[in-house]
Amino acid sequence: MYNDRVRSAARDALAAGSSVSDVARSLGVARSTIREWRDRPNSPSRQIDKQCPRCSPHRSWSLCSYAALLGFYLGDGCLSTHVGKVVLRVSWDESHPGIVDDVSELIATLAPHRTVFHVPAPGTTVVQAGWKHWLCLFPQHGPGRKHERTIALEPWQQEIVDAHPADFLRGLFHSDGCRTRNWATKVVAGEKKRYDYPRWEFSNRSDDIHALCGAALDKLQIPWRRSGRFHLSVSRREAVAALDAAIGPKA
Ligand SMILES: [Zn+2]
Repeated sequence: MYNDRVRSAARDALAAGSSVSDVARSLGVARSTIREWRDRPNSPSRQIDKQCPRCSPHRSWSLCSYAALLGFYLGDGCLSTHVGKVVLRVSWDESHPGIVDDVSELIATLAPHRTVFHVPAPGTTVVQAGWKHWLCLFPQHGPGRKHERTIALEPWQQEIVDAHPADFLRGLFHSDGCRTRNWATKVVAGEKKRYDYPRWEFSNRSDDIHALCGAALDKLQIPWRRSGRFHLSVSRREAVAALDAAIGPKA
């Protein structure tokens, strides 16, 4: 039910002298679970769920949906773990109802036995669904914010992203990206002319997530560049057109 990374973080913290309460609080895991891990270190760390493609590797599942939801999770999503419950939450401002529908469908495809909730918050809609096995699907979950820790894909995730880079990029750019219109002036025949051109910009504070985004763009041979400490942009005309075709509009 908890991934091995959370369990070993708990074990390390206990070995370093932290109390059960402190470890429970910092990892968002119930104290009784931490106590059980301390007292029964060899007990199984995860209950099998036949709906979970990681627990039941022969189950067929939609890899392109997973690649997209992974992008959304790394962009604007989070897992919260509290008293044995695990909830996936992804939130947007209300001006993007198409994305809310997209993520709801992705969750429904990957976890058809779970209920997807839309929780209104001021100016925002949160799409959420509870399932302990989100921890199997998103092993990047851990204490602290994403940009404050290493975000590395596991080999099975990398394989899926390599096979479905456009879906992965849709998740990343539709959560942490925006398509803007820029302008520039050029002197033509002695006259200053203004040109408008679109570009995509991806903004995230994690260098690791930037690297994943850049690698997926490379897979599609879409030129990009880092345009700031937290930004990556796709601005050449053909590159913008290729990204438009790959990920669709941010609706
Ligand atoms: Zn699982």
